[in-house]
Amino acid sequence: MKKVIIVGAGLAGSYMAYAMGKKGYNVQVFEKRTDPRKMRYNSGRSINLVVSHRGWTALAYAGIEEEIRKIVVPAYGRQIHDLEGNESYFAYSINNKAIHSISRGEFNKTLVELAEALPNVSITFDAFCEYVNFNTGTVFMKQGEQHNAYSADLIVGGDGTGSSVRGALMKQPRFNYSQDFIDSGYKEVHIPPRKDGKPQLNIDALHIWPRREFMLMGLANKDNGFTGTVFAPFNGEYGLDNLSTGQDGIRYFEKYFKDAIPLIPNLEEQWESNPTSALACIRCNPYHWGTNTMLIGDAAHATVPFYGEGMNGSLEDVHVFLELLDEHGDSNMEKVLETYTEKRVPAGNALVDLSLRNFIEMRDLVANPYFQLRKKIERKVQTNHPDKWTPLYTLVKFTNIPYHEAKAEGERHDRIMQQILAIDDIEDRWDSKEIEKEVLRLFESIV
Ligand SMILES: Cc1cc2nc3c(=O)[nH]c(=O)nc-3n(C[C@H](O)[C@H](O)[C@H](O)COP(=O)(O)OP(=O)(O)OC[C@H]3O[C@@H](n4cnc5c(N)ncnc54)[C@H](O)[C@@H]3O)c2cc1C
Repeated sequence: MKKVIIVGAGLAGSYMAYAMGKKGYNVQVFEKRTDPRKMRYNSGRSINLVVSHRGWTALAYAGIEEEIRKIVVPAYGRQIHDLEGNESYFAYSINNKAIHSISRGEFNKTLVELAEALPNVSITFDAFCEYVNFNTGTVFMKQGEQHNAYSADLIVGGDGTGSSVRGALMKQPRFNYSQDFIDSGYKEVHIPPRKDGKPQLNIDALHIWPRREFMLMGLANKDNGFTGTVFAPFNGEYGLDNLSTGQDGIRYFEKYFKDAIPLIPNLEEQWESNPTSALACIRCNPYHWGTNTMLIGDAAHATVPFYGEGMNGSLEDVHVFLELLDEHGDSNMEKVLETYTEKRVPAGNALVDLSLRNFIEMRDLVANPYFQLRKKIERKVQTNHPDKWTPLYTLVKFTNIPYHEAKAEGERHDRIMQQILAIDDIEDRWDSKEIEKEVLRLFESIV
């Protein structure tokens, strides 16, 4: 394998271009958008993202972790804002581990620049992939008024949720695909820093205003501002479809997120002009075709953003592929790609399931006293027995354990904790030695 074509210079595509370029492949990337360095980053996509352990592992593999660490802001826990404006803080881990917020635009630009600096990588912008012929290994591109065809030994679909490469695969027999929109969408609002440049909210936390069916989330930016995102159903009195004007937005915030209003000086204007976006989950199988085509990232497994793992899982796809390439060599692409599908399809499906599960947890359960009690018990057991109990959140965000294995362990924890929370007067006894012993007993007996 000498030549690689990557369709899409998003986060997964540009990371892969860099990593494959470093390995000496001749990499040609086609991106439908204009060069991000020549334009303000497009609206309608999330402005910032959370990088977690899997993302860092992939970046470290390619030797660019330190470069990216320069542009992130750490968050060590969740800060919950209740309806009355009270705040409570929950650390993400017992040993002060952090997740990191990064600007999507900055991250993408940095990856594009790193990739383009390699002499064997070229990125062509304003180039739209129309179709792929898998038999000949050819992509058909629309570039302005021209239609061009390019061939390669490996074609990579890194072209996101609406992937054209996947679209071509869907015409092949026995290629499975599903797409499901959830009934909620999102709208972003910008929370600027104070006039003196300091943050208006605790900069060390990810902020959540959970309101059962919906929530507001605040994620820090490098300039001490925050990107606020309202996730809410489209339907109903307070559904996004019925909150189209700026005045509707003010009315909504006054009722549910009153303490956030002073943080957003031009809320009315932002609410009216910022887009409302839908959220979909995509699953497919396989993630490759023959010996010359593969899907990475959202093209294979787009998910809702509630675990903040879509991009991390996308970088992990590429990382897993690169390690398979190291192990088997490009003379055995059949083995590399088959193993890639074998490893990543269950992981991609579990990523989607976990993200849907965390939607419920973030908007609903963090405001539920039983959830908070469960967290306290889990934290205590984890502190005293770190070799045994690792909470699901930690498995997902702070380890590289495959998503499907993390999910299975999380479900086992659910079964254990259901029994613990059903114990009489658990609210009074949660901190006792007997409860800790009972958790451990169930941990050994429930499989
Ligand atoms: C609101 C929101 C918040 C999120 N927060 C997080 C988070 O905190 N952490 C996290 O890990 N993930 C998060 N995600 C998910 C994350 O954005 C995606 O998983 C990630 O962007 C996937 O990367 P990708 O490169 O596969 O796709 P994209 O980033 O979508 O890149 C695809 C690229 O392909 C290009 N393209 C598309 N079609 C074509 C074509 N036909 N021809 C040529 N080019 C094409 C596109 O222009 C784009 O540049 C969030 C998503 C949303 C919506």
